[in-house]
Amino acid sequence: MSVSVGIIGATGAVGQRLIQLLTDHPDFEIQALTASESSAGRPYKEAAKWQAKGPIPESVADITVVPTDPDKVSSEVDLIFSSLPSGVAEKVEPEFAKAGYLISSNSSNARRDDDVPLIIPEVNADHLDLLEVQQDNRDWDGAMLKNPNCSTITMVPPLSELDQFGLEAVHVATLQAVSGAGYSGVTSMEIIDNVLPHIGGEEEKMETETRKLLGEFNGAEIQWHDVEVSASCNRVATLDGHLENVWTELKDNPAPSAVEAAFQDAETIDLPSAPNELIRVFEEPDRPQPRLDRNIENGQAIAVGPVQETPWGIQFDCLAHNTIRGAAGASVLNGELLLESGYL
Ligand code: NAP
Repeated sequence: MSVSVGIIGATGAVGQRLIQLLTDHPDFEIQALTASESSAGRPYKEAAKWQAKGPIPESVADITVVPTDPDKVSSEVDLIFSSLPSGVAEKVEPEFAKAGYLISSNSSNARRDDDVPLIIPEVNADHLDLLEVQQDNRDWDGAMLKNPNCSTITMVPPLSELDQFGLEAVHVATLQAVSGAGYSGVTSMEIIDNVLPHIGGEEEKMETETRKLLGEFNGAEIQWHDVEVSASCNRVATLDGHLENVWTELKDNPAPSAVEAAFQDAETIDLPSAPNELIRVFEEPDRPQPRLDRNIENGQAIAVGPVQETPWGIQFDCLAHNTIRGAAGASVLNGELLLESGYL
């Protein structure tokens, strides 16, 4: 039996990826699409400025987009995927949760709240039961679950493997694709022939979300990991795929070969959209590259370059597809985890 799902913010960059990933999904069936008032009332094929590869799937093309309001979404919908700007989501997601919907959300609001699980299924699926604490605290029938920021999700699976060697500090510089800013994000005049050495709020997200994701859940709350994270974020003129240069300080000083082996052995999870290989390690010094490596395992894997020793510890580069593993694909995985764990 398939679960009826809705997408709120369905016309944007992440919303379109959600449409692609949920069309023909083995467990989920799209029933409702919402966007802003200017899109509402129109068939999806007219409301969305479709940018994704391939045509708009026929099964959604004629669905009428409705306003982003729980009263306008069919009560048959059991799960909501949210890809709204965070300022909008901040107000709307609690309204949906109050109305009884489970929400798997991309938006950055509430990610750091004590009772909101922030999940990468292969890394911290055990944090999911924080949903029960949230429902008790807020007296909601529904609840919200978040996936992390796209640049955080790229480095945390490898960092999670490094925890066994005594992870103490992380320094990271990012080279982030333009799709990470959404369709109306950066203009061509800003980004062509240029690099923008600042992405508002991104550094703080990487520094805090990493510690929450790597934290321990004791059944009532998350004890954040005490790793120190320092990030410097840059927007570059690639379309998709965030590349990151990561330096780590590790108490046990492992050999690069031991780190590579740990990356290769990273545990996977049995969910329909999960990759068979979570971390692909390259030996070539000029990999990973966004154009060549962002679609490994349908965009759900993390690509890692050669692991090197530095005077401070271990250095490596990593890459993930920002609108798949970093956004829509991450929330689909979290939706699958909700189903697998009996929340749906
Ligand atoms: P986007 O391209 O700007 O799309 C925003 C969506 O929200 C559109 O469907 C838009 O509908 C809708 N919307 C805007 N204002 C609204 C309002 N007042 N009421 C209802 N709907 C409204 O943004 P995006 O890149 O898809 O990002 C969506 C969310 O995911 C953001 O919170 C972002 O931070 C997060 N995220 C994005 C990425 C990425 O790589 N892009 C990665 C991780 C997380 P209209 O078309 O009608 O305006």
